[in-house]
Amino acid sequence: MTSIAFIGLGNMGLPMALNLLKAGHTVRGFDLVATSLQQLSAAGGLAAGGLAANSAAEAIQGAEVVISMLPASQHVEGLYLGDGGLLSQLPANTLVLECSTIAPDSARKVHSAAHERGITMLDAPVSGGTAGAAGGTLTFMVGGSVEALKQARPILECMGKNIYHAGPDGAGQVAKVCNNQLLAVHMLGTAEALALGVANGLDAGVLSEIMRQSSGGNWSLEKYNPWPGVMDNVPASKGYSGGFMAELMSKDLGLAQQAAQSVAASTPMGSLALALYRQLLLQGKGKLDFSAVQQLFTRP
Ligand code: NAD
Repeated sequence: MTSIAFIGLGNMGLPMALNLLKAGHTVRGFDLVATSLQQLSAAGGLAAGGLAANSAAEAIQGAEVVISMLPASQHVEGLYLGDGGLLSQLPANTLVLECSTIAPDSARKVHSAAHERGITMLDAPVSGGTAGAAGGTLTFMVGGSVEALKQARPILECMGKNIYHAGPDGAGQVAKVCNNQLLAVHMLGTAEALALGVANGLDAGVLSEIMRQSSGGNWSLEKYNPWPGVMDNVPASKGYSGGFMAELMSKDLGLAQQAAQSVAASTPMGSLALALYRQLLLQGKGKLDFSAVQQLFTRP
């Protein structure tokens, strides 16, 4: 049994923390939002060893492992760095698993501050969404040393099914932004093709099946069809609710552009995808699932 501090109990963090409790670990959680904290205790957490802390500093008392699942780079840097930051309070040899999706450069900054203090850190962003978080089937893309990953693996296995070592510090975040840029591009291409076919008189379901079995087949068509009613149990068939919010996809596409900028890479598809997602956000649809880009190609 490991004593774990979990900072950020939102849509992803709370179910991940509950899976750690289920596996028999002690979890002391903190979130700025009181209701998330109450949920950690209410969802059987208290009985199983889930404690709600009043601050991040309180949550890390006695923790062998610290996990964070926060919205973006500024939250992560704010939590760990600077005078009052957690890295200045944690004992050496603590294991920090930073699971938020943030800029690779930002992750490297936290890694370097952790190294200076003898703290072991991994960037370990995830894929698999809220369903993967609840089911304990997330994919972890890990950046950092092989030895650190060996130490972290039993903890990560309580929350995920596939654990990949992407490379050195920051590599997990690079893998994550590459994956999400590709996801945005094939979702947009799928939505555009479906709208083209339907405007020319085809049935969206029939066209989806043809393309799925042909060379246009891709994950968005197979698992996450953006046309309402073609697939059961996907956000498109539930008013684009649930799933992965368009504003988070827009954030990730911005991170991909930053990563491209830092090495002068040419990413025209990623750049166009970001512009299209921003259009969706300007229409007030940022809270909808990212497959709602279908609406950019259809008449209201
Ligand atoms: P969320 O907004 O639901 O949760 C983030 C939580 O962090 C919130 O509850 C917020 O109150 C808390 N928080 C912010 N600053 C804090 C601080 N200083 N101390 C303590 N708590 C703080 O977001 P989410 O959907 O859980 O996503 C978390 C991260 O995971 C993001 O980086 C996101 O891009 C990534 N991600 C999300 C999904 C998804 O499907 N939602 C999938 C993969 C990756």
